[in-house]
Amino acid sequence: MKSPKYIFVTGGVTSSLGKGILTASLGKLLQARGYKVAIQKLDPYINIDPGTMNPYEHGECYVTDDGAETDLDLGHYERFLNTPTSRANNITTGRIYNTVISKERKGDYLGKTVQIIPHITDEIKRYIKSLGESGNYDIILTEIGGCVGDIESLPFVESVRQLKWELASSAIDIHLTLVPYLEKAQELKTKPTQHSVKTLLEQGIQPDIIVCRTEKSLPLEIRKKIALFCNVHINSVIESLDADSIYDVPLLLRKEQLDTIVLKKLRLKSVNEPDLDSWKEFLGRLKNPTSEISIGLIGKYVELKDAYKSIHEAFTHAGAANETKLHVIPIHAESLNSENVGELLNGLSGILVAPGFGSRGIDGKISAIRYAREKGIPFFGICLGMQCAVTEFARNVLKMKNASSTEINPKTRFPVIDLMEEQKKVTAKGGTMRLGSYPCEIKKGTRAAAIYGKTKINERHRHRYEFNNKYLDVFSKNGMIMSGVNPDMDLVEMIELKDHPWFIGVQFHPELKSTVHNPHPLFVKFIKAALEFAKGV
Ligand code: GLN
Repeated sequence: MKSPKYIFVTGGVTSSLGKGILTASLGKLLQARGYKVAIQKLDPYINIDPGTMNPYEHGECYVTDDGAETDLDLGHYERFLNTPTSRANNITTGRIYNTVISKERKGDYLGKTVQIIPHITDEIKRYIKSLGESGNYDIILTEIGGCVGDIESLPFVESVRQLKWELASSAIDIHLTLVPYLEKAQELKTKPTQHSVKTLLEQGIQPDIIVCRTEKSLPLEIRKKIALFCNVHINSVIESLDADSIYDVPLLLRKEQLDTIVLKKLRLKSVNEPDLDSWKEFLGRLKNPTSEISIGLIGKYVELKDAYKSIHEAFTHAGAANETKLHVIPIHAESLNSENVGELLNGLSGILVAPGFGSRGIDGKISAIRYAREKGIPFFGICLGMQCAVTEFARNVLKMKNASSTEINPKTRFPVIDLMEEQKKVTAKGGTMRLGSYPCEIKKGTRAAAIYGKTKINERHRHRYEFNNKYLDVFSKNGMIMSGVNPDMDLVEMIELKDHPWFIGVQFHPELKSTVHNPHPLFVKFIKAALEFAKGV
């Protein structure tokens, strides 16, 4: 078995420079040359995973097929590489410590003092190398969360130092920094980069390549200065210019020859030029839309783009597939009520009600769904969005007064959405929802079947509540079709309305599986329906 090569991506100066996008873009370029690539992320917080954090803290929690609740950067890795990630692609300080402490209790280190070096760092290195040792990959890219110099990330950076030493020419470090432009002085400044690299050097790592995030192109003089102060060749100073779209970044980095330099440093052949034809085709459709529509995104965290990251990206993929520019209008669920709904949703060609937890904003969501149902506006409800659609139908069509989900009103007379049987005994919060990929069987002849073009699908879940099967008959008899069902447990996974141009709710999260190469069919067809609605077809 050939041993794989390792690329570590560290960051300095500030967070939010786009380390995840840089890593995903480089992964894309290497994959496009025919290399088998995996990307993993190391997160420096003490939580075992981000599943227990709220979106203000962490943005979206991305769920993998194997049911891991992970960092949203894994979503970028999947969207760029079009390959699924798993629990092995995201490791947190909490998980590392948890493993080491469990081993200590078992007596695995009997007689020894358990320490950060070597026990914690050994565990980190074991996780990093386990992906490589699977034999499935040529190159492993590892993104180190946080910034160099943070107390939190010290054990990760130390592990990278040790691995670089052990793996010699099979491992490199790419350091992402910021080169700010000072408007008043009209100058690009290299000092933050110099300091960041000095911090990295103090921790024993000489970066092999420096990627500089910048709003202005880097002149030769600036590149020379960074090369001189940071001990890298001038060709290894790479500019990462602010881009219109994250999907431009692979091409921008290609222009800078980042992939060629990486391959050279890792002593890998660069015989094939990257095949980016389909990527460029996607960008062509994204940037040359022939129509334009507005879609309402109704949720609790709409002001936070990261909270619905995968939904926004799935919209981007679906917009491109329909050659349509989408204006995704964020609408705060709490601002909506039955009086103002017509005014606030005016001009929208489609309405998506987002996933979520808890009762805040529920009434606003239900008002929006009623409006979409009655006015024939394309509607797409995801997870809580589907549960609200069921509740709305129960209240306003089936006249079940105060029908609700028991998550919202545990005492409701009509618990149309209820806690799943398997959840009733669960008390711990971390990693205990119905998580990951489950099969769903779609009923023949439904809109859902036409959209997928097949009747057996797998989609990812993250929830505790479900449609209450006690009400199956009354819903079906009155026009709500249960179009997708989990074959093992009879759980309703998809609903649709018979007499409506496009009204679909799904208990799963289709947004998590939409990629540049495989835009999700539900999103693509939702946008198509919205376009038809806008044209009055
Ligand atoms: N709160 C709901 C449940 O747990 C929906 C979850 C979600 O939208 N992800 O079932």
